[in-house]
Amino acid sequence: MSSISTFPDVMEKLVSLAKRRGFIFQSSEIYGGTGSVWDYGPLGVELKKNLKDRWWNAMVRMRDDIEGLDAAILMHPRVWEASGHVAGFTDPLVDCRNCKRRFRADDPKIKGTPGTPDAQCPACGMKGTLSEARLFNLMFRTFMGPVEDTASVVYLRPETAQGIYVNFLNVQQSTRQKVPFGIAQIGKAFRNEITPGNFIFRTREFEQMEMQFFVDPAANHMEWFEYWKAQRMEWHRMLGLREERLQFHQHDPQELAHYARAAFDIQFDFGGTLGFQEIEGVHHRGDFDLGRHQEYSGKKLEYFDQPNNRRYVPFVIETSVGADRTLLAVLVNAYREEQVAGEEEGRTVLAIHPSLAPVKAGVFPLVKKDGMPEMAMRLANELRRHFPVFYDESGAIGRRYRRQDEVGTPFGVTIDGQSTTDQTVTVRDRDTLQQERVDISRVAGVLRERLAA
Ligand code: ATP
Repeated sequence: MSSISTFPDVMEKLVSLAKRRGFIFQSSEIYGGTGSVWDYGPLGVELKKNLKDRWWNAMVRMRDDIEGLDAAILMHPRVWEASGHVAGFTDPLVDCRNCKRRFRADDPKIKGTPGTPDAQCPACGMKGTLSEARLFNLMFRTFMGPVEDTASVVYLRPETAQGIYVNFLNVQQSTRQKVPFGIAQIGKAFRNEITPGNFIFRTREFEQMEMQFFVDPAANHMEWFEYWKAQRMEWHRMLGLREERLQFHQHDPQELAHYARAAFDIQFDFGGTLGFQEIEGVHHRGDFDLGRHQEYSGKKLEYFDQPNNRRYVPFVIETSVGADRTLLAVLVNAYREEQVAGEEEGRTVLAIHPSLAPVKAGVFPLVKKDGMPEMAMRLANELRRHFPVFYDESGAIGRRYRRQDEVGTPFGVTIDGQSTTDQTVTVRDRDTLQQERVDISRVAGVLRERLAA
């Protein structure tokens, strides 16, 4: 479901900036690329790490009721039978007998009903060549061990959540957590998506940041659901995503999984024709997952409530957000082209939250002489002990500022003629373009303070 947005479509510009500046490259590009798989370059890996750190800090480190986990990608194949993915993680697909392309059966570009003579292939335009819809499983399959037979089939996980469910008692008993509590993890997931695209919006390999919160079914579980909805929306706001670009979308009864008691998506407005799209799901999953794993494994997954001498299978409230998709939202939200007063050339700026910025400060000697480079290098080395810094002495100073604006560096520190005499430098703010003179000994402190704000 998308709606045409009032925000412009900046995707193409972002794809080009991301490649040019080393955020994101197409995977295996020299071989013509791999379909919908992307590699993160030097700046991209920092940005993504900062984003994941913010999530980990908010969800695990700052709380005493959530524990972290890093489960393996490969799991016992029965996990995916229990979870419902073997039987149900499917998309209906149609094939064109003429051009051999595949489409989702609900692709709006298909005219007519697939399987009938009037249906027209959206790629080659032939009529009557589209097959009836067939179900196609989105999980990647491979074989474990030396024998490639049905007994050795394993799947690349299509979500990280199952690693949490199967470890529910391991974590609870080893940490002695009491319900309500949660388990969080960040990790890769794989889906053989049929209509991937829009850069890193829908890819075949991506990272999820998921948290499963276990609550007492006899207690206030709907309050916890509301709590997590609000918390997660607030987290996206704190990333700097603009208020008017965020909204909740409630799943209606047709969209709702049969076991789910309630589900909301947090949507972000990506601009252009993509419009509002899901970046995170907040789901009340009842006791479906733990119940199914109990059934399929034959092992009890009950929580023992000692004070009340009760045993029960907890309900689960899940929050599931894509790291790559949120990173794309951050870039879309931050991208600006603007005029600068008194200058002919405009600038492109990524106004990303300072805590996410891959580089925190650019350090520039105004000119390459008179002791300025030495002083600037000394300062850069000192600042590097606290955060990533980029030292640049080449080209006009305006150009050097622009290059850092374009990758979202929040501060530019310039060492000029005055610096070598009075030990002060200028600190330029990416967003306001204001410059102020600061004593060189105070630069690290001032910047750290502003980065922490
Ligand atoms: P969609 O309907 O967009 O396919 P979904 O409802 O299947 O998403 P979930 O299974 O709820 O998504 O996954 C949770 C989050 O994981 C999504 O909100 C999204 O941020 C991310 N995600 C899911 N599939 C992909 C993908 N193919 N590429 C990138 N991120 C994804």
